[in-house]
Amino acid sequence: MERYVLIGLRGSGKTACGKRMAEKLRIPLYDTDALIEARAKQSIPEIFSDLGEGVFRHMEREVIASLPDGAAVIATGGGAVMDPQNIQRLRRKAHIILLTADEETLHSRIQGSGRPALTTLSDLDEIRHLAGVRMPVYRGLADLCIDTGSLRADEAAARIIRLNGMRRRNPELFTETLAELNCDTPDDLINCPLICGITGNPVSHSRSPHLYNTLFPEYAIPGRYLFLPAKSAEDAIRIMLAVGAKGLSVTIPFKEMMISCIDEPDGDARAIGAVNTVISCDERLYGHNTDWIGIREPIRDLRGGDALVVGAGGAAAAAVYALQSLEMDVCIANRTEKRGEVLAERFGCRSSPLSSSINADLIVNATPVGMKEDDGSPVPSGLLKPDTTIFDLVYTPPMTPLLREAEAAGCRIIQGTEMFIHQARAQFRLFTGIDPGIDRIREVLS
Ligand code: NAP
Repeated sequence: MERYVLIGLRGSGKTACGKRMAEKLRIPLYDTDALIEARAKQSIPEIFSDLGEGVFRHMEREVIASLPDGAAVIATGGGAVMDPQNIQRLRRKAHIILLTADEETLHSRIQGSGRPALTTLSDLDEIRHLAGVRMPVYRGLADLCIDTGSLRADEAAARIIRLNGMRRRNPELFTETLAELNCDTPDDLINCPLICGITGNPVSHSRSPHLYNTLFPEYAIPGRYLFLPAKSAEDAIRIMLAVGAKGLSVTIPFKEMMISCIDEPDGDARAIGAVNTVISCDERLYGHNTDWIGIREPIRDLRGGDALVVGAGGAAAAAVYALQSLEMDVCIANRTEKRGEVLAERFGCRSSPLSSSINADLIVNATPVGMKEDDGSPVPSGLLKPDTTIFDLVYTPPMTPLLREAEAAGCRIIQGTEMFIHQARAQFRLFTGIDPGIDRIREVLS
């Protein structure tokens, strides 16, 4: 597949590197900014000042939609891949290469370029601002990251071509590691541009491989998602690096330990104290937490109000973080009261022994109670009032004793599968840059 899409901030070398690649490979170069200028018969600064950024983005979308299929190098404008339609179009049957450079290099390269400012900030502050907003999206899209800071354009081009647009894998280590995992994999996996997987102990019950391996081909993403069981969080990272995986879904019991095994946990992961998604890019490991998004999305309409979280483990921390992001007044009730108090102190909320006198518009069960056949409900029946919403994070089985009792009492109920579906949507985006939409995920998992 000789189709390479170069993405990155302004000044990262997309046009210069793209030209060298196209020359060496003797394939066409499509520079989206140059194509827009040719169509509009105006320079980019003129389009921005005469017509505005909105019209420019519209033209950019049209240019990207009209790019011919087949072998090519495509150099994109820095903002092009912030648009979901552009992402889907560019991602198809292509290697996505992220070019990076330190901010001083970017700054010096854009001096005198005549490109319009996108904010009212100084050049350096604009670079920092755009890096904060765009880099997570770029990293999600990228199959390979190349730091062009100390490379000439022809050197960066030669490196991408030598690597065939894919991250480097050591064949012996790759084969040994997969053999050690007893992993059932296709023969040519080593040549797969995008490998992701799920780690934890155990992982064999996970539906994520089915979900991802169904969705990848739908977006023409040359990817494979594997079971990657490990002995510890450190061991999971060893395996991730040995197989050259770009993304790792992390499940019990490694989420909390994973935070100390990676280079950059984001703000959400640090606040919750757990990482459930690791992205490997530019030789660094980035950590995210999508569990809290999985809890927030199904209850977005419940902003404000009183909430009760039952439990004080990792899922409870993600729940408290999600509910506070919706400005809810949260009370934690945990079997071991001291642990509930510690979590409440961390988040600046209340804790209380579980009783029927707690006021709650929303109750979240963040304990495993309900997973076993003979489990009862972890919530006193006096709390199940018709105007209360009950969200049970337990997802096997989807219908728990708590949810059955709540439904009979006239409560609105939300199953734990909803958390899984919404967190998976956010995680798929972190791995690929693409939002597959909630309905399609629900359909694949149904
Ligand atoms: P965890 O860290 O082990 O915490 C478990 C919590 O449940 C602790 O607060 C524990 O209380 C409490 N607990 C355990 N057994 C109990 C019992 N018999 N009665 C009352 N409280 C009990 O586990 P976690 O990672 O937070 O996960 C909790 C549950 O969330 C999981 O079992 C899973 O069902 C669900 N979950 C769902 C999703 C999803 O996608 N839907 C994702 C993650 C987790 P003590 O402090 O007293 O031990």
